[in-house]
Amino acid sequence: MKGNGRKQHMPKLEDNSSSTPSKGEATDETSIIPQLSELTLSEKTAIESEHNIKRSSREVPVEALDQKPSPGDDNAPPVTRPQDCLLEVTSTPDRGLAVFTTRKIKASTLILVETPLIALDKREEDDHAAIEREFSHLPRPTQKLYLKLFDAQKSRMTRIASIYYSNCYNCDAFKSAGKGGSAIGLLPSRINHNCVPNAQFCYDERTNEMRFYAIRDIPRGKEVTSNYDKVVFESRARRQRKHQIYYGFVCRCDACEPKTEFWARSDERRQNMYEAFRTVQGCETQFVSAHNTSDRQNTQQHVIDEALTSLRKLEELLLKESLVGVPLANTYRSMAKWAERKYDVDQVRTWKTKEMQACITGFGHDAPRTKEIEQKLADIETVLRQ
Ligand SMILES: [Zn+2]
Repeated sequence: MKGNGRKQHMPKLEDNSSSTPSKGEATDETSIIPQLSELTLSEKTAIESEHNIKRSSREVPVEALDQKPSPGDDNAPPVTRPQDCLLEVTSTPDRGLAVFTTRKIKASTLILVETPLIALDKREEDDHAAIEREFSHLPRPTQKLYLKLFDAQKSRMTRIASIYYSNCYNCDAFKSAGKGGSAIGLLPSRINHNCVPNAQFCYDERTNEMRFYAIRDIPRGKEVTSNYDKVVFESRARRQRKHQIYYGFVCRCDACEPKTEFWARSDERRQNMYEAFRTVQGCETQFVSAHNTSDRQNTQQHVIDEALTSLRKLEELLLKESLVGVPLANTYRSMAKWAERKYDVDQVRTWKTKEMQACITGFGHDAPRTKEIEQKLADIETVLRQ
């Protein structure tokens, strides 16, 4: 798995400890999307200068790397997937194959849909034999493509298992309780990591599809990236150590190799995010323990205000750092929870609405989390009308 296993595509804001990362660690989180227009000019410049990668002329058609639906049925209508007209796979001088946009893409656009080559439930994903078994069921040409995927050469396992763990995405947040697990796809495996990603992974349990949404506007010819890490507060040095160990690469994103003063302050922003996050965690403990005190109401009110102040700070920092995916959505979810604790319905509605926008951008209109928030907002409206 890229990472110590699976790509943590779903950085889980509320959980700062990661055990076995998979690309796109799917938690039940989402992403809110500050459009570029919402950022200051200097921030825009910083973002737009991101990844000015020299692309080699050797481009690989997406179709060559991806599984099309079986062409056996001549009567079947041709299936067009978003990646067919939005993405291409290109060889880069320093990072192997990478995925680039072939046109300008707006935030919230579904850019990639693929049925996994192998998808394993939680109880099976650490079982190398299960990976071998699923691999043996793949058609021979697909096996050949699988064996060309990046291999971090993990120790004490076969190449097939090592490739799986080097490329699979965590699906925990997207499956019904207990199922979790991970999945590997051909094109998703070509999406490289970036600590400031522009795409969000999610897994659609109903259709068994790996999906990627653009979480920011992406200009034509830019690399599509996702965050393999679950945690977004870590320092550059710590991230780089982790990437080396688990994936065998050195991240050269704007946050890791800053070329501007703005990005040189990335570590400072992430440290401040962590402090705000820890304050909220502390507030949670204080809120619960204030339950049995004589001055409960006043104490809890004070704790709620402190938590909301820290969350506002966290929101601001995440937006500045362009971490507009899951971490931001989770911040809004947390804000709504604290606002609910002080019975401030207007604030609950505000934060839930922002969380929903983030979910739409990162996971789509039909995602279960988006639908849940939609229902919650409808309930709030009903209460307000009464
Ligand atoms: Zn990086």
